[in-house]
Order: sequence, then C-alpha cells, then structure tokens
Amino acid sequence: MPRPIQAFIHSNALRHNLQQVRHHVGDAKVWAVVKANAYGHGIERVYDALRAADGFALLDLDEAERLRALGWRGPILLLEGVFEPRDLEVCSRLGLWHAVHCEQQIDMLAAHKTHAPHRVFLKLNGGMNRLGFKPQSYRAAWARLNALPQVDEISLMMHFSDADGPAGVAAQLATFEQATQGLPGERCISNSAASLRFGADARVHQDWVRAGIALYGSSPNYPDADIGTWNLRPTMSLRSRIIGVQALQPGDAVGYGSRFVADAPMHIGVVACGYADGYPRICDTGTPVLIDGVRSRTVGRISMDMLAVDLTAPRAAGKASGFGSEVVLWGLASAAHGAAALPIDEVAAHGQTVGYELMCAVAARVPFGQEC
Ligand SMILES: *Cc1c(COP(=O)(O)O)cnc(C)c1O
Repeated sequence: MPRPIQAFIHSNALRHNLQQVRHHVGDAKVWAVVKANAYGHGIERVYDALRAADGFALLDLDEAERLRALGWRGPILLLEGVFEPRDLEVCSRLGLWHAVHCEQQIDMLAAHKTHAPHRVFLKLNGGMNRLGFKPQSYRAAWARLNALPQVDEISLMMHFSDADGPAGVAAQLATFEQATQGLPGERCISNSAASLRFGADARVHQDWVRAGIALYGSSPNYPDADIGTWNLRPTMSLRSRIIGVQALQPGDAVGYGSRFVADAPMHIGVVACGYADGYPRICDTGTPVLIDGVRSRTVGRISMDMLAVDLTAPRAAGKASGFGSEVVLWGLASAAHGAAALPIDEVAAHGQTVGYELMCAVAARVPFGQEC
C-alpha cells in the first residue's frame, strides 16, 4: 500500500471556471495560463478541460513541447519570450508566439534565420518594473520590431501590478493607452484579477486576457472576495487519511516542540501528510481541515511526513472519525462525505501565503488522480 495521500484534479471544475472567466470578459479571447506545470495541476491532466480556451500561455519551452505533443495546434504564447538565441529555433519549429520585453530579445530576433516570421507580443512596463519596455522607449521598440523580416504581427501586452488590490488598474491602464495610442495590433493586458474585477470594461479585457489562478479555483483577491463570490470551483483536492489516533489528557502535548497542549480530554488523529508533501509547515495549530467531511483543525507542528488533527468536531457531528478516516487538506471531500469544500485560499491564509503557492508546491512524491 502506498501512503494514503493523494491529489485529485477536477476536470469539470476547470471547465466551469473557464466558462466563468469568459462571462466576465465580453468577447475577449482567453489564454489559459498553464505555466509552472499548470499551477501544479499537471499540463497533461488539465489539457482536455482547458482546450476550450483560445490559447495556452506559459514560460517553459518544454511545456510548450508537451502541449504540441498532446495535439494542440492553436496559439501558444511564451510569456517571458526567449532566453537565448536557440530558443527562437524552437519557436519557429513549434509555431510559438512570444513576448518581447527587452532590446536583447529584439537583437536575437534580428539575427534569427526563419522561413516563417514570428507573431510577437511587445511588452510594456506599465509601472510594475519587472519585464517590459518603459513607456518612453515602447514606440521605438515597436518600430524596430516592425522593420524586421523575422517579425509578423505585433501585439501589445502589459501586466498589472495591483489588479488584485485597492490601487486597481486605472493608473496603469492609462499608461498603457497613452503608450500604445495609434499603434495597430491586438492588445492583452489582464490577468485573472483584472478580468474578474474589471473585465466588463472593454478597455480592460481588450482582445485577449491571460487567466491563470481563476481557472484553478482560487480567488485572486481573497479575502476581499472568495471563490463563492466569483462562482469558481476547486480544481485540486489534497486528501489523505488518519494513520494513528491518540487520546490526550489535559496537559498532554502534541508533536515537535510540544507546541499544542490539550486543556481537556480529547482525541487527535495523525494524518499521512507533512511538509515534504507540500503542506506548509507554518500551518500549525488552527489551520482548517475536513475530517470525514466535517470541518476541524490542525494541532501542533507540521512534521515532514505527518500532521495531527483534532477529532473533536467530527465526532461531535456523529462521525466515527479515527483510523482510516479521510482528511482533506484543501479542496473537496470525496462524494461519500458530501463533497464538502475547503477552499485552498483559506488554508493559504493560515499559511501567510496565497493559493498559487500551495497548488504549485505539491511535492513530486504525491500521486495524482482525476475526479470529475
Ligand atoms: C502568471 C501570469 C498571468 C496569470 O496570472 P493569474 O493571476 O494567475 O491570472 C498573466 N500574465 C502573466 C504575464 C503571467 O506571468
């Protein structure tokens, strides 16, 4: 028997979430962002559900290869463009569209030998100061690209720094409009947060949006809005089982450092899940879990391979929780437990992080399954 921990991918939820994104962005085309191995879900596992997108956006050439191997003939966009000249050969061979965010990438294109010119997305640094040309050098970069025989259509791209927060998109949107005024080409500026919060505005959704986290059932602006607000569904469930039970008396401690001490008689379950599975070590006492579909909490430190949970709540709810019981670390309980939900955002908040980080960090030793 393998350890009982398993992650499940919910294809119907991926389909549903893609539809929800579409509802927010008018007639814009949608890039399904599948970087970081589809936010930890696995490109091969999400492909069928997300092939209703208009294209796939990612960073790694080998992930683009995998999408072509799956049979995807539509657009693929490299969000960071190429890293060295020979990457352009892969772009030519696989027909990849790529971002151009710096002069060095234009130099590489100018030296590239290709039969078919490349579709490129010229990136504006609208104030985030990560990748992209400053507004004052954007037009010169466009003109340089436009003069190259290696370049086909030029699209215009930007990334918001504050689409999920109180600052919103207004200032950077104005920067984009000014820097690109009069330039031809499709526009692509919005991530999930901008799409969900402001996507009704045609100036925000433009021609393409890049949706990542919303597809994967995590709210880009939790806790201001949870997945219920956006009508998104969890796409990944991390589940394990109880492999041991301890009865505690008042004063008994749990785990390394004796960080939890019982103040009344209680039972705890020891779960086959630890930080070596990708569960954050910081999620000690009080982080929500579902035991037999009933909400409870972690107790004590998270170990490498185990963590402890409080059996009080499920037993009070009439469940015979103990050895072998199902524990949901995030996502959905199994159908036998009513598919109760524990949004990944709630767990992430207890770990002082975001859903993105948890889903990307599920360890290689955790086996994956599919569950509609
Ligand atoms: C990751 C990424 C996205 C997707 O962001 P989400 O917040 O997950 O929707 C969009 N654009 C770029 C350039 C990215 O790197």
